[in-house]
Amino acid sequence: MTDSYDLITLGAGSGGVAASRRAALHGARVAIVEAGRVGGTCVLRGCVPKKLLMYAAQFGDALGQARGYGWSLGEPRFEMARWAAAKAAETARLEGVYRQMLAASGVTLVEGWGRLDGPGRVRVGERVLQAPHVLLATGSAPVRDSVPGIEHCATSNELLDLDRIPPTVAVIGAGYIAVEFASMLARLGSKVALYFRGAQPLRGFDEMLRTAAAAELQAAGVELHPGLVPQRVRRLEGRFLLELGDERVRGFDWVLNATGRRPNTEGLGLEAAGVRVGADGAVAIDAALHTTARGVYAIGDVTNRRNLTPVAIAEGRALADSLFGGTPREVDLSRVPSAVFMLPPIASVGPAEAQARAEGRTLKVFETDFRPMKQAFIGGAERTRIKLLVDAVSDRVLAVHMIGADAPEIVQSLAVALSAGATKADFDRTLAMHPTAAEEFVLLREPVR
Ligand code: FAD
Ligand code: NDP
Repeated sequence: MTDSYDLITLGAGSGGVAASRRAALHGARVAIVEAGRVGGTCVLRGCVPKKLLMYAAQFGDALGQARGYGWSLGEPRFEMARWAAAKAAETARLEGVYRQMLAASGVTLVEGWGRLDGPGRVRVGERVLQAPHVLLATGSAPVRDSVPGIEHCATSNELLDLDRIPPTVAVIGAGYIAVEFASMLARLGSKVALYFRGAQPLRGFDEMLRTAAAAELQAAGVELHPGLVPQRVRRLEGRFLLELGDERVRGFDWVLNATGRRPNTEGLGLEAAGVRVGADGAVAIDAALHTTARGVYAIGDVTNRRNLTPVAIAEGRALADSLFGGTPREVDLSRVPSAVFMLPPIASVGPAEAQARAEGRTLKVFETDFRPMKQAFIGGAERTRIKLLVDAVSDRVLAVHMIGADAPEIVQSLAVALSAGATKADFDRTLAMHPTAAEEFVLLREPVR
């Protein structure tokens, strides 16, 4: 059986669904091929369930704080199995919403594993689909060969399906997933140890945020082991043994492999189709999202640039507008806002200070560090830290960095100002909204350097 379309998309995750729906809106006939559940990583085993677990962890903090605000409470207890059941119901609901959205847009869903099968041809089992345009949106999966024996360990996928919180957990890595889950697990009842090769967690983020993240993790009871990665992980009678060198071995109930993700490019027939895959396993693309094969495009995690949902979605929509909407355009990845949903959360838009200096910018740096009102009232230690990087020549605000309650909500709004080219003078003439933490951004007067 052969079906003809204008566009065939491989992968019904964030990017694939966005591209397909936008293309259909422009009148294209679109088929989307999905090997697993519709919705992809973000909806089913990423952003959404992760944030739902963060809310669960946040209640732990809130219940403790409530006493300081006059509440009397019994001893709270977290039941992971109840959370997991509610999460499964919510992700099933969202998968249904995604299926409905595709159907309502007139996109044909083809369930099964898709692979390129000659120019303009995609094979799904016995079925062959044809289209002049094929989009690779197959996402990424956890790396399982970074440390000897790590293949025995769980990844974020399994963590989100646990029905009980392990008493002791080793987390290997110190990127987004390691930091977010270490922070959550510590609040939900695990004794957590974080092993990582750098001096600070969260490589690439501003030093102020990295230092603060380390301090907040420690304050939550997470043991930090910078510069120490297990040489091997062994499984023994249901437990995990980390070989730490010098004959040191430490046992844990559970280990989270948070050593990164790799693009899903295996079994897609890329080589035969002339699609070049780089040394990092990512599909190589140009600014128009075109691969090295005619009529084949790629977006999102499979291209391994900024592996974030809004990026995959923006790329998918840009590609559909370019191919079918008569408005060719590129996505600007020079200012991608991003958050780390630890507690308290981190959010950034624009370069880290060290990066801006390395780019040759002359900077004015504005910083403040305070104990928010909600914490001060109950004698809490948690602090909020903010930083503005301003171009000393043009007065343009180049970057905003924050760690503290609601940082992602605040920085998302400030990202609009940065996109609009706001200057420090614009921040200065903006009236404060009081009492808020966000007002501190318009009350910064003297640069610290
Ligand atoms: P995906 O969403 O992974 O979709 C790819 C789809 O392709 C999958 O459904 C897969 O089954 C399918 N597929 C693969 N191969 C084939 C094939 N051959 N045939 C058919 N189908 C195939 N990003 C954020 O912005 N904010 C967050 O808070 C955030 N939290 C995260 C938390 C975790 C734990 C993880 C793992 C990721 C998180 N991310 C977050 C990253 C975000 O999930 C990804 O960047 C995003 O999902 C990428 O979208 P995509 O469309 O490229 O791929
Ligand atoms: P990251 O790339 O963020 O972090 C990977 C970590 O593993 C780093 O600390 C890295 O160390 C370490 N590592 C890599 N290889 C090895 C090795 N061989 N031995 C020891 N350590 C190693 O990946 P994540 O898996 O945390 O997340 C994947 C991506 O998903 C993120 O990059 C992000 O794009 C996205 N994501 C986004 C979230 C959000 O927006 N809030 C949340 C979760 C994921 P080093 O730094 O030294 O290289």
